[in-house]
Amino acid sequence: IKSIAVLTSGGDAPGMNAALRAVVRTANHFNIDCYGIREGYNGLIAGDVTKMGPRSVKNIINQGGTILKSARSKEFMTYEGRKKAFEQCQKLGIDALVCIGGDGSFTGAKVFNEEFGIKVIGVPGTIDNDIFGTDNTIGYDTALNTAMDAIDKIRDTATSHNRVFFVEVMGRDAGFIALNSGIATGALDILIPERKDSMDDLFSTFRMAEKVGKSSSIVVVAEGEVLGSIYDLAKATKEEFPNYDIRVTILGHIQRGGSPSCADRVLASNLGYGAVIGLMEGKNKVMVGMQSNKITYTPIEEAIKKHNEIDKNLLQIAEILAM
Ligand code: ATP
Repeated sequence: IKSIAVLTSGGDAPGMNAALRAVVRTANHFNIDCYGIREGYNGLIAGDVTKMGPRSVKNIINQGGTILKSARSKEFMTYEGRKKAFEQCQKLGIDALVCIGGDGSFTGAKVFNEEFGIKVIGVPGTIDNDIFGTDNTIGYDTALNTAMDAIDKIRDTATSHNRVFFVEVMGRDAGFIALNSGIATGALDILIPERKDSMDDLFSTFRMAEKVGKSSSIVVVAEGEVLGSIYDLAKATKEEFPNYDIRVTILGHIQRGGSPSCADRVLASNLGYGAVIGLMEGKNKVMVGMQSNKITYTPIEEAIKKHNEIDKNLLQIAEILAM
């Protein structure tokens, strides 16, 4: 390997900068040329590329977002687009691509490798934590802590007014943020896409809470919850319990921002380093992950197809501890 390119793609996540820094510094340490590509695959197609030395990534380990900027590229979904991207790689002499992103971005990398032979390695950067082959994804811990802090604040006002709050956190397909922030904030109930709850389940939880004398409640709801929108949930609950004072809060994009947590910076440093080492060892079409504190490599197909499972035990613990 003589020359690598690195990009951030898909939804941004806190810690992507720390991963970028690790890729750039590790590559430079081993005398590998390193190019930063702006705006995901769009920048690869357009040749929006800069050579990066160790000093180009100074003062970014603590910054949220991604200095390279991220994008969703429609053009890269087409063969013509990917061909242009390949021509740019040829022009710059790029042998390998480090792709920091989620499973969509990995799918793009895999297709690109199969068509044009440029080596690819994925670095899991997404707040959702739903990627197989790593215990945690970059950004998840920070997002979780942001959600927790916000729900703590909501709890203060919920308690003061005996209110019921439905709080929506991110996670379209995965309930990791909801489950863990729900446990950490003592939520009455946690609704996630991995578990099929019914409205009746939710109502009986409210009845139980009344019985044990709870005066205010927080229900944490994952974005992709199956019972309908959070407003539908609130409306149905109001119909069943007309005396409840119900509020809805959607945390939204604050969960994507902010300075990465210590855990995310350390994870990103490990994975960025591991990506370059993996390429040097001849690995290709894999995703670098951390499993039980070790750097591991998982075939990218597997990382895309499989998903991290929710800890069912944790769900049960949440139920027991809520009352
Ligand atoms: P997140 O999970 O945070 O949204 P992601 O990486 O899954 O991140 P996507 O929007 O799904 O985000 O994918 C990012 C980009 O990857 C797409 O905009 C597209 O350019 C590329 N991509 C995704 N799927 C394919 C595919 N089948 N072929 C080529 N490129 C793809």
